[in-house]
Amino acid sequence: THFGFRDVPRSEKESLVKEVFSSVASKYDVMNDAMSMGVHRLWKDEFVSSLKPGSVKVGKVTRCIDVAGGTGDIALRILDYAREKKADRDITVDLVDINPDMLKEGQKRFRKTMYHGSPQVAFHVGNAQDLGKDRFPDNTYDIYTIAFGIRNCTDIPAVLSEAYRVLKPGGVFACLEFSKVTQPVLASLYEQYSFSVIPLLGTILAGDRASYQYLVESIRKFPSQQEFARMIANAGFEVGELEDGGAWRDQWGGIASIHTGVKL
Ligand code: SAM
Repeated sequence: THFGFRDVPRSEKESLVKEVFSSVASKYDVMNDAMSMGVHRLWKDEFVSSLKPGSVKVGKVTRCIDVAGGTGDIALRILDYAREKKADRDITVDLVDINPDMLKEGQKRFRKTMYHGSPQVAFHVGNAQDLGKDRFPDNTYDIYTIAFGIRNCTDIPAVLSEAYRVLKPGGVFACLEFSKVTQPVLASLYEQYSFSVIPLLGTILAGDRASYQYLVESIRKFPSQQEFARMIANAGFEVGELEDGGAWRDQWGGIASIHTGVKL
């Protein structure tokens, strides 16, 4: 396309992704609400509550890592869920993102919460594909989450193998990502929406059409539910049956999907 995002070499894609998120960082939360009409909130609620983060045992600390964590939507939900549903104020989330501008927005947001200054959350600039053994040692986490992030990575197997490495045995990998709509009528409506409305909203609200064009294209190129589940299994995770309700759970007919895997 004339936006130049399609079929660019890896290293170039990486810097383009960086630019995209730097340019949208300050408007990211507003745009998410506008483009999904608020629905991303429901998916994120479902994603986090299905993981039931938190411990009912006093003194047992659940450690979570939220990769491509951006402005903290998932991290905040994890902390809130554990506190509200399990009275757990010990659970920790390490929020990792490649883009310092997105992290800054996240930090700004956490300043207004009760978790500000607490050891429950920490922000790290880092790459999902190579978290680094020194900063993120093997067998450290109980829960690894990545929401609407893996699609932006150039090397998905590398992300999955890093996830496997940092999880403890018994730890859970969970990914929320745009996926393939399976129902034909819904698929065509969604196609129309994403190719006209989203870039238009990008132009109007953020003055930035190219970034939102990138968003639409990256969704298109992402593997199907089944292919992605196979990749998770190939990284060593136990994923269950390769079907909806097994290795993944479709949200809204596959507009988004939740994939999980357990490190045995
Ligand atoms: N998880 C957040 C959410 O659900 O609202 C943010 C999702 S946002 C669409 C995607 C994030 O992935 C951006 O903050 C971007 O900087 C980050 N990202 C892209 N490539 C990355 C990589 N290789 N490693 C870590 N983060 C990455």
